[in-house]
Amino acid sequence: MSSNPQAPVSHFIRNIIEADLASGKHRGIVTRFPPEPNGYLHIGHAKSICLNFGLALEYGGKCNLRFDDTNPEKESEEYARSIQEDVRWLGFQWDGTVRWASDYFDALYGFAVKLIERGLAYVDDLTPEQMREYRGTLTEPGKNSPNRDRPVAENLDLFARMKGGEFPDGSMVLRAKIDMASPNINLRDPALYRIRRAHHIRTGDSWCIYPMYDYTHCISDALENITHSLCTLEFEDHRPLYDWVLDHLDMPCHPQQIEFSRLELHYTITSKRKLLQLVTENRVSGWDDPRMPTISGMRRRGYTPEGIREFARRIGISKSANVVDMAVLEACVREDLEARAPRVMAIVNPLKVSITNADGAQSREAGFHPNHPEFGSRVVPFSQQLLIEADDFAEVPPPGWQRLTLGGEIRLRYSYVMRCDEVVKDASGKVIELKCSIDHATLGKNPEGRKVKGVIHFLSCEHALPAEIRLYDRLFNAPEPDGDRDVDFSTHLNPHSLDVVSGWVEAAVRDAAPETRYQFERLGYFCTDRRDHRPGEKLVFNRTVTLKDSWAKEQP
Ligand code: ATP
Ligand code: MG
Repeated sequence: MSSNPQAPVSHFIRNIIEADLASGKHRGIVTRFPPEPNGYLHIGHAKSICLNFGLALEYGGKCNLRFDDTNPEKESEEYARSIQEDVRWLGFQWDGTVRWASDYFDALYGFAVKLIERGLAYVDDLTPEQMREYRGTLTEPGKNSPNRDRPVAENLDLFARMKGGEFPDGSMVLRAKIDMASPNINLRDPALYRIRRAHHIRTGDSWCIYPMYDYTHCISDALENITHSLCTLEFEDHRPLYDWVLDHLDMPCHPQQIEFSRLELHYTITSKRKLLQLVTENRVSGWDDPRMPTISGMRRRGYTPEGIREFARRIGISKSANVVDMAVLEACVREDLEARAPRVMAIVNPLKVSITNADGAQSREAGFHPNHPEFGSRVVPFSQQLLIEADDFAEVPPPGWQRLTLGGEIRLRYSYVMRCDEVVKDASGKVIELKCSIDHATLGKNPEGRKVKGVIHFLSCEHALPAEIRLYDRLFNAPEPDGDRDVDFSTHLNPHSLDVVSGWVEAAVRDAAPETRYQFERLGYFCTDRRDHRPGEKLVFNRTVTLKDSWAKEQP
């Protein structure tokens, strides 16, 4: 049903892997995707997932899913569950069981003891202000802490007592002994462990000290025999620390950290903190609101895994800025849906049409997709009362108008040529009904002696079903909603990002399961809502994307 998978695009990480396989450095590759369970995954994570899992698939290797669960206060089971669901929905499966950095808490503690024994780590009880002062700045070197030369035995004792819960939160840390004068601030004796009495989703209250991310990540990678540890560019300056830790411990292997640029998508935000803010401030209905750039939001909106994977392929992997317009993502989804979504008719803004000569009119059978006869067909019913889209009629048509006007003719999709003979208005002058007649000789045939160019969609009143139709648009109306530090990103929320209308659909969609996708002819692609749609009872459709890029022409 979907278009053929596209050929992989070559990039520098692929080149490194191919060289490593060719030279025999590795016989197979092992990658990992290491999310922190502190929010739902977004389109930026999708890029990283497609890269890590995609490379493993392509080179016959493995990819682990490992939760980086070292900040207990912000992490939750709900987030961890959603992340697993999203990775699977995107079409990937991790190797073996899900892994957790917390699986290695005992091992990490043991490695820290080893570093202390080797004179490479010490317990420091400077206050946070002193720490800052000793650390120096980007232009000035730091100074050694007075605790830097604490004897090994004392460090071992203090570290054990930190673990034992003898000291208050934040009162001391274990630090690596590297170089306070390093031009790279990450190497100025970085903290390895901190004291934090927080309930952990996996280990409960058994620990009151937690390892820092940089220390945890490289060791977890090595313990899992990761070959290529792919991360985003902000970790470039952390790589010397990643390597330092592994070089000073006897690890079974030394994974290579390789950085690539983060995806930034115009007209949206890819910061978990800000997405959380949208949720907590009720700007959206939840993490899976169809306007959210989260994987679960895009899923609910009707985006396909294939469309998102194709987007990841098109944007590529590099070290240079990866700022992409939303239109690229929308185009990938649209192209995917074009071939896979059955086509039906729906009306979002109805105008009543009475056919004055309906006697003897016939209904006609129509296929669900012009290029896919295997999708089947249904009867498109015709009757005396019809609904058309209100904006398909204009009493005073603009130049070039090809839709309906008084005295003009159009083709009703899959049905007759129809002429508008009379316009009925209410007291305020609003058009409330059209009286029209059909040319009985035009069912599936061209009319005699004249050309009718316009084609509009319609529904038969007595056969149509009511449906809630949610017309989604972009959540933000500025390309870089968080581009200006001094302006809160929420000021750029698009006030028209959701318009809920009471529309009508063909009876053919009555029993569609949740998450069924359709093209509503001339309107766009729609998907039955995962949460609120009830087959046969309450029909709820989300607009996934319009048929054309409606933003392109509006931009200056
Ligand atoms: P934070 O660490 O601030 O919570 P994060 O977005 O880095 O946010 P993680 O859960 O640590 O979240 O991310 C998991 C993986 O996804 C990391 O390897 C990270 O580099 C990658 N990733 C996150 N955001 C993007 C993005 N915008 N583009 C590409 N990869 C990303
Ligand atoms: Mg991160």
